[in-house]
Formats: sequence, C-alpha cells, structure tokens
Amino acid sequence: MDRFLNQLIQLQELNFVLSEQRTLVPKNRLADLESSIRALIGNLPQDIATLYRRLQERHQAAVVPEANGTCSGCGISLPTSLAGEIRSGKGIQQCPNCRRILYHLEGAPKQLRRRLERTGRPRAGVARFSSKELMLPRIEAEDRDDAISALIQLMAAKEFVENPESLLGATLQRESIISTALEHGLAFPHVRGVEGGGLTFSLGLKKKGLKFDRSKGRLTRIIFFIVIPSAASVFYLQLLSGFIETFRQERARKEILACKTPEEMWTTLNTLTEKTIP
Ligand SMILES: [Zn+2]
Repeated sequence: MDRFLNQLIQLQELNFVLSEQRTLVPKNRLADLESSIRALIGNLPQDIATLYRRLQERHQAAVVPEANGTCSGCGISLPTSLAGEIRSGKGIQQCPNCRRILYHLEGAPKQLRRRLERTGRPRAGVARFSSKELMLPRIEAEDRDDAISALIQLMAAKEFVENPESLLGATLQRESIISTALEHGLAFPHVRGVEGGGLTFSLGLKKKGLKFDRSKGRLTRIIFFIVIPSAASVFYLQLLSGFIETFRQERARKEILACKTPEEMWTTLNTLTEKTIP
C-alpha cells in the first residue's frame, strides 16, 4: 500500500479515537493523542494533508475501504479502472462522487449478507444493531484478548462476520491506542471499516470481572464488541453514549449481570435502553 495512504489510515484512526474520547472521558490522555495526530500530519506532504483536512470537515470517515467495487463511504459503484488502481495500492485515489480517499486491504474483515436486514430488522432501539443470537451470558475467558475473541467468535459462528482472526488483530490494535475499558465495568472494543452490513454488536458478561485495562486495577464485567462500517461512524458515537447513559446506573448493571440466558439478556437490554437508544 502507498506509504502516505497508510499514514492517512493511521491518522484517521487516531482522529476517531480522539472524537470518541471527547465524547466519553473528557481530559483523559488527550494531549498524547493530539500530539501523535500532529506528528502524523506533519509527516504527510502538504497537499495530501490539506486534502485530508478538507475531507474531514465534511465526513467523519474521510479514508474508506473500497468494498466489492463500491465506495463504502457513499455506496456508488466505482469505475473498473479506478477499482484496479485502488487495489494496486499506488498513490492516493478518490471516489469520483464523494471525493473520499479510497483504499483496499487484502483479507480485511467483512460482514456477511446483511443478516439483520434480511431477517426483517426492526426499525427501533438496539434491535437495529444486534440480536438475541449475539448475547453471551457467560464469558469463560479470564483475560481481555480471550474475552474479545469469544465475542468475535460468536459473531462469526452466527454468520454475521467472516475472518475472525483479522477482526481480533484489528481490535487489539485499536486497544493499543487507548483502552476502550471505562468506568462502571464497561468496555467497548471495536473495529472500524468492516463493510458489507450495518453497525453490529455482540454483548458478553463476565460476572466476577476480568482485567481488561492493564494499567489500572478496575475490573470489566460488561463487554460490547462492535463492528462499524465506514458510513456508520456517527451512529457509533450515539450508540456508545446511549449505553453509557444506561449503564451508569447501578440498577441497570445489576439487571443485565443477573441474566442467565441470551433471551433474558436480549429482553433486558432492550428494556434498559428503550429511552437512551430510541
Ligand atoms: Zn464515495
């Protein structure tokens, strides 16, 4: 892949993390993140940096994968010759419609067959983003990586995503920037740029807790694993804020942690998030 394109993808990931952190935990290690962002921008040729900044003013996701010959930002079919250039990884290529910068990642994790939509996805609440099948009442794993892996394996087993190994790699890479573990035993590991369906999450519980965040003593008990297609970046922040609003309440945490079956978890989650995720 083009060197600058590669840097742009990293830059964008840091910008995503920055906006996420600003939403969730204001003042938390943002100075480090901001200086990494400045350094990456400083390493880019001026014209590419300017292009990126301009695109970012319009789109949360300015650098997006080409998926099955379409732009995953706006959805149009790309001319075959352009798709070929993107796949060859030479230079910076833009979508002729939305102008986003396009890239191709060999072996990138993908969603499968828009499962929720096919099965008549309801139009309200968390049911837009998950299902009973993606609830895991008891995570057997004792550490972070295995817990994330269990949630990814569940999503893959229920045929929502393919290539679980590459999903796990991308999730851990994201965790290495800033942990997604938050207060109240919550964690939100996730991967962006997973195309082929809508925003989808699985939810797992670890009642006695596990160490998700190595630098701190706190234990994580409620873990949402989320795959985010490029076009759903904004939804993701809304979903996250909704979950946090709900599970800030001790009563809500107790209710979800008391669930013993996927059915019970799913019903409880729907009820608890009725107001926060309409
Ligand atoms: Zn486009």
